[in-house]
Amino acid sequence: MTGTLYIVATPIGNLEDISPRAARTLSEVDFIAAEDTRVTLKLLNHLGIKKHLMSYHAHNSSHSGERILERLSSGENCALVTDAGTPAISDPGETLAAMCALAGAEVIAIPGPCAALSALQVSGLPSGRFTFEGFLSTSRKSRAAHLEELRNERRTMIFYEAPHKLLRTLRDLRGALGDRRASISRELTKLHEQTLRFTLADAISHFEATPPRGEFVIVLEGARETAPETFDIERALELVETYRGGGMKLRDAAQRVSAETGAPKNLLYNLASGSAARGLRRPDASPEDRGD
Ligand code: SAM
Repeated sequence: MTGTLYIVATPIGNLEDISPRAARTLSEVDFIAAEDTRVTLKLLNHLGIKKHLMSYHAHNSSHSGERILERLSSGENCALVTDAGTPAISDPGETLAAMCALAGAEVIAIPGPCAALSALQVSGLPSGRFTFEGFLSTSRKSRAAHLEELRNERRTMIFYEAPHKLLRTLRDLRGALGDRRASISRELTKLHEQTLRFTLADAISHFEATPPRGEFVIVLEGARETAPETFDIERALELVETYRGGGMKLRDAAQRVSAETGAPKNLLYNLASGSAARGLRRPDASPEDRGD
C-alpha cells in the first residue's frame, strides 16, 4: 500500500469550522470519498476546490471500499468525508477505516468538529470519563439489551438522536435508567444552537409541549451508585400480564417491564411463569442471588 487515507472532519453546521489543514488536504489528495457527493460538492464549492468525488456510503461500502483500496494501492491518496463532522463516529467512515487498517494502508486523521464532543463540552456534566453510545437501535430487542447494559454505567453517556425519535428515546432512557440529569444540545454551531439542561422527566415534558426540531445530542449523567431496588414488584407483574395480554411473549414482556421499572428481568420471568415460587426467599432476590 503506498497511498494514504485521510479521514477529514468537516463542519457540523458552520462552514467557518473547516480547518486550514482539512481544506489543504481536500485540495491536495487525488480523490475524495464522500457519503453524499451533493453535500460535499457544496463544501468544495465554498472552498473553491475542484476534485474528483467518489460515492462511499452505508449501502455501497463493500464495493466502493474495495475500489478505494485498489486506488490507494496504486499510489493515490484519498480523503474520506461524511455529511458532517468526524468520519467514523456513527457514520459509514468506520467501515472504510477498518478496511484500510486491515489492508495495512496508512490512515491519518485530520481532526475537527464532532457533535458528541461539542455537546459534552457544554453539558456541564462530568467529562473526565464518558462513553459514546451513538444511536440506540430501533429494534425493540437490541434497544432493551443496550439499555440494560447501561443500567449501572457510572460514566457520562452520549447519545445521538434524530428529532422524530427523540421523545421515545428520552422516555426509554428514563424507564430504564431512572430520572437523572441530562443536557440536550440541538443544532450545534448553527443559527438556532441551543443547549437545555434538564432532568429526563423535565426534558420529556418540555419536548411533549415543544416538538423537537433539528439535530440532537443527549448527554446523560452516569449512575451515582448501583441503582437502588425501589421497584414495586406487584405493579411490575401486572405490567408483564398486560403486555402478555397484548400478545407479547413472556420473555419479551419481562425484558420490557424490567427496562421500565427496574425490576430484575429474571425475577419477573420466573415469578410470572410460576417457576420461582418454590425458591423465593425475598421479592427482590434474583434467581442468581438465590443460587437457583
Ligand atoms: N460523524 C458525525 C459527528 O462527528 O458528529 C455524526 C454523524 S451521525 C450520522 C449524525 C448525528 O450527529 C445526528 O443525528 C445528531 O445526533 C448528531 N449531530 C450532527 N450534527 C449535529 C449538530 N449540528 N447539532 C447536534 N447534533 C448533531
